[in-house]
Amino acid sequence: MTATVIGNTPVRKCETLSALYQTNIFIKEEFHNPGMSAKDRPALFMIQEAIASGKIRPGGTFVEASSGNTGLGITLIAKQLGYRSKIFVSKSCSEEKIANLRCAGAEIEICENSNGLHDFYSTQFRAQSYAATQDNAYFTNQYYNTQNIRAHYKGTGPELWQQTEGKITHFIAGVGTGGTISGAGRYLKERNTAIKIWGVEPNGSVLQQFLQDRTLPESVRPYDPIEGIGRNFVPGSFDADAVDEIFQVDGESTKKIAREYRNQTGNLTGFSSAAVLCCLEKYADKMNFKEDDVVVLFFPDHGSRYVSKLYAQEFAAMVPSQKTL
Ligand code: PMP
Repeated sequence: MTATVIGNTPVRKCETLSALYQTNIFIKEEFHNPGMSAKDRPALFMIQEAIASGKIRPGGTFVEASSGNTGLGITLIAKQLGYRSKIFVSKSCSEEKIANLRCAGAEIEICENSNGLHDFYSTQFRAQSYAATQDNAYFTNQYYNTQNIRAHYKGTGPELWQQTEGKITHFIAGVGTGGTISGAGRYLKERNTAIKIWGVEPNGSVLQQFLQDRTLPESVRPYDPIEGIGRNFVPGSFDADAVDEIFQVDGESTKKIAREYRNQTGNLTGFSSAAVLCCLEKYADKMNFKEDDVVVLFFPDHGSRYVSKLYAQEFAAMVPSQKTL
């Protein structure tokens, strides 16, 4: 799998949202990547850098802590290049993502949480400890690997600029490791400082507060479960200087809007993509878009990865179970 296959995803105008918000709303559709998510981008950069700098030898094992998408990108690329993969996912990961990982050939370990390297039970701690005890294994560590931001600085950012012919005025993306918003945001700000770079995270996550005054809450607290986004620590791959504002949304409204959007457009959005839609709905007044603005929403993956979490309940209620037939 090469750099020519990963990235260069389409940007499409969404007429429904453009009409609703009286501006020009485009969607960067990352589910066209081979692993069906934006995380193929950092996976490729991290793997290439590790191989080129001799951090892993042929046939070795790439190890990652992932909510699923980075793990799948790592697994697909590693396999093509003759490496193995071992992915530590938290138990909140959707069953579809786990199935995808297994089918792609990853070895998987399910962990309690993804709270960061300081937590014994986290995906990150377990991944790091595992890699340290193996011969020829490399922990890609997306939360602190500079290649994560670089992948979006070299790929996503320039693509957004070119695909909008330099007319982009707003970029809105969910924040997990921070790689997307930091890399694309940094590139876009370098082209035009007026472009607004807005992040979205679940209620209770800490990056909004960190961005405002560089402080963190005194104790670790839970945040709304929206798969792929939300943190209770500040990842090294989050560059606060590249971001103007972070908005928070709640999990239940996000699920509701995913279904509304499906009803209006026929598209199944991913969970964190729906969080971006939820953010628009909740803060549209504050955002104050103008008629000629060019707003790009980042959709990192596809709703097919969250059927069980977002869409299946209503379907189950409509269809009689096998037992009653
Ligand atoms: N949405 C989804 C579905 C993801 O998998 C991720 C990555 N965890 C994100 C959003 C956040 O992207 P980033 O890590 O670049 O901030």
